[in-house]
Amino acid sequence: MAEETLFTKIITGAIPSEKVYEDDLFCAFKDINPAAPCHVLLVPKKVIPKITDAAPEDTELLGKLLLTANNVTKQLGIAEDGFRYVINCGENGCQEVMHLHLHIIGGRKLGWPPG
Ligand code: AMP
Repeated sequence: MAEETLFTKIITGAIPSEKVYEDDLFCAFKDINPAAPCHVLLVPKKVIPKITDAAPEDTELLGKLLLTANNVTKQLGIAEDGFRYVINCGENGCQEVMHLHLHIIGGRKLGWPPG
């Protein structure tokens, strides 16, 4: 991981977090400011700042991101009742951390549309 971000520091353990899953490509940990009873961030260890920065070489990684997220929802016990995946992008998308991450949000009935 060449570029340092808040999330690379969490992945290496330099910043503490409640990790719920980790493999060679991804790390998942509890969001510090949860929007629902279950709110986990699934982060590729490769630093892609925004989803729009993903390149053709990231095709497999992005596919694995969603399949890994499906496994994490099962592990968290929210798969059956349903949940939401969110990727915020840029200013209008309210992205705060410039390191691609998938929000996994569940544990209660969620409102729609988002505000
Ligand atoms: P986004 O707005 O999509 O960039 O989401 C960034 C998320 O990171 C927010 O939901 C924050 O609550 C979360 N966050 C920020 N700092 C931490 C931290 N130290 N540990 C866990 N989650 C964090």
